[in-house]
Amino acid sequence: MMTAPQIQGLRGELRHDEPMDRHTSWRAGGRARHFYIPADLDDLSAFLRQLDRNEPLLWVGLGSNLLVRDGGFPGTVLLLLGALTGLEWLDARLLRAAAGETCARVARTASRAGLTGLEFLAGIPGTMGGALAMNAGAFGSETWQHVAAVETVDRAGERHTRLPGEYRIGYRSVQGPGEEWFVAAHLMLEKGDPVVAQERIRTLLAQRGASQPVQQFSCGSVFRNPPGDHAARLIEVCGLKGRTLGGAQVSDKHANFIVNRGNATAADIETLLLQVQGTVEQQQGVRLETEVHIVGEPAGAGA
Ligand SMILES: Cc1cc2nc3c(=O)[nH]c(=O)nc-3n(C[C@H](O)[C@H](O)[C@H](O)COP(=O)(O)OP(=O)(O)OC[C@H]3O[C@@H](n4cnc5c(N)ncnc54)[C@H](O)[C@@H]3O)c2cc1C
Repeated sequence: MMTAPQIQGLRGELRHDEPMDRHTSWRAGGRARHFYIPADLDDLSAFLRQLDRNEPLLWVGLGSNLLVRDGGFPGTVLLLLGALTGLEWLDARLLRAAAGETCARVARTASRAGLTGLEFLAGIPGTMGGALAMNAGAFGSETWQHVAAVETVDRAGERHTRLPGEYRIGYRSVQGPGEEWFVAAHLMLEKGDPVVAQERIRTLLAQRGASQPVQQFSCGSVFRNPPGDHAARLIEVCGLKGRTLGGAQVSDKHANFIVNRGNATAADIETLLLQVQGTVEQQQGVRLETEVHIVGEPAGAGA
């Protein structure tokens, strides 16, 4: 385990026992033993170089697909949101987006420049790093369809530039060549009309507002859609819409969302998720796979 005095010459912000409900869109969950906000990419590399090589790491963007159990995360969280920032045109159609930029800003920047393809990102409440890790997608588009290259960093703080062919990319799943994390994406875009692109963003945001509980604390879709079907449909036909457990509730607006009604623990959310999974399997014969990432220790485990 790493302690504060071992860290030399860093410019970022190191915290201890950081409540992760502040950094996850479910607004629930335990504390991170250590929590680092790097000042920039060089500082991130310097921090990684000084870490114990067995230190468990959790990389966090906006925490919009993440449940940290109530006992917390027994390692170090690296928060990139707002820390690794920067949007830069590498050429007329190639945008470099740092991992801590929000998807919304990436989409807006591209559309204002009259380049299309990334409008779907506008309504995804995450960072570029999270979108790369999840292959985030919506309305028939996915993040990696637009990736020309990615920049990564490894445990030793070494940086790499990698091509999409080095990854196994699937529906909300990405497997990389080793223990590396994303620090930037190079996104290839198509020439288009800025007015049309910005209108498309408005339409997609309106569609989301109409079909999803965007005003409530959630993590978006809890389960991946099974081939040829929709998780929300399967949950709804089991009569689970509106089901509550403690402070957690299966949204009555979108059955594949579990919302925190204000006082949910991570255990409430995870138990409800498991109940939904079990009921759908029992009644519909389909095992739903979780899309959200669940990490950390249960309460009482003493992280
Ligand atoms: C209201 C709502 C609507 C949503 N709609 C959609 C949607 O339409 N489509 C969709 O795909 N998702 C959707 N989501 C889910 C979520 O927004 C996306 O998965 C998003 O890409 C997560 O980004 P993040 O930065 O918040 O990642 P986090 O939640 O912080 O992290 C998610 C995972 O990625 C890993 N990770 C984060 N950053 C990095 C990095 N730099 N390098 C390596 N790994 C990293 C984390 O360790 C974690 O395992 C929605 C969520 C909400 C709350």
